[in-house]
Amino acid sequence: MNFPIEYDEPLFRPPSEARSLIIQITLGCSWNKCSFCEMYTSKQFTARKEEAIFTDIEAFAPHTAQIKRVFLADGDPLVLSNDRLIRILNKVTETFPNLNRISTYASPSNLKRKSDEELRALKNAGLTLLYVGIESGDSEVLECIQKGETFETTIEGLNKSKTAGMHSSVMLINGVGGKLLSKQHAINSAKVLNATQPKYASTLVLTAHKGMPHYKDRYKGEFIELEKKELFEEMKLFMEHLELTETIFRSDHASNHLILKGILGKDKQKMLDQIDVAIQYSEQYSNVGGGY
Ligand code: SF4
Repeated sequence: MNFPIEYDEPLFRPPSEARSLIIQITLGCSWNKCSFCEMYTSKQFTARKEEAIFTDIEAFAPHTAQIKRVFLADGDPLVLSNDRLIRILNKVTETFPNLNRISTYASPSNLKRKSDEELRALKNAGLTLLYVGIESGDSEVLECIQKGETFETTIEGLNKSKTAGMHSSVMLINGVGGKLLSKQHAINSAKVLNATQPKYASTLVLTAHKGMPHYKDRYKGEFIELEKKELFEEMKLFMEHLELTETIFRSDHASNHLILKGILGKDKQKMLDQIDVAIQYSEQYSNVGGGY
């Protein structure tokens, strides 16, 4: 069978959406400034025409029985108006009646800009899971990486979506603030998670896709890369400050040197013990990532 639609490449989705149908409703990212992110730097942000989106959705109508999950791409579809988003969500749910989940990427600012009623309407229309790359909970780190968020906006955005009944999967970057901001990055990231209690949280290790000099150029401040042992120490400090009740935690992205999986709080001590072993043997540790 030929794939029924053509994507505007590059196309990204979270690892856990590997079995989902991906529908591009916007192209690129309207922000497109984060110093570590090269996902959409080749694209100009565009809101796709509704007609084209509906044609893509209808192309999968013959496969409706198999389609259980839909992921709306690219970077931040929630910049669209609610009216438009709800028409798209209705089209998705009408076409695929066996769906059990619609998800998308979202930023805290996207969420902050929607009213409580608008977020609830999106949830009621089927959008139940948001992937939110918060990267850090520390305002200084967020400024250096040009994220356009702060400690406060991140908490506000995440809690607004939670109040609307949506789940969130929060992503953080180990090492993103370098040596100089490592401690505050770890502690304030834990504080953001404690204040928002997300359903899922994960960490990945900073990867400079276009090389470290390029990352440093885009980083607004002095950046000194963490050594492997320091990355583990940052994870330890972060984990020590977490007070989560039932967050499913993963650090199994291919970039991670140490794979951690569990439920926080229940598995906190177990994960701390694993980090301690990694610190102890950090010199011998090879990159054993590749969980996806
Ligand atoms: S908001 Fe997300 S997609 Fe956009 S530049 Fe930042 S990390 Fe990349």
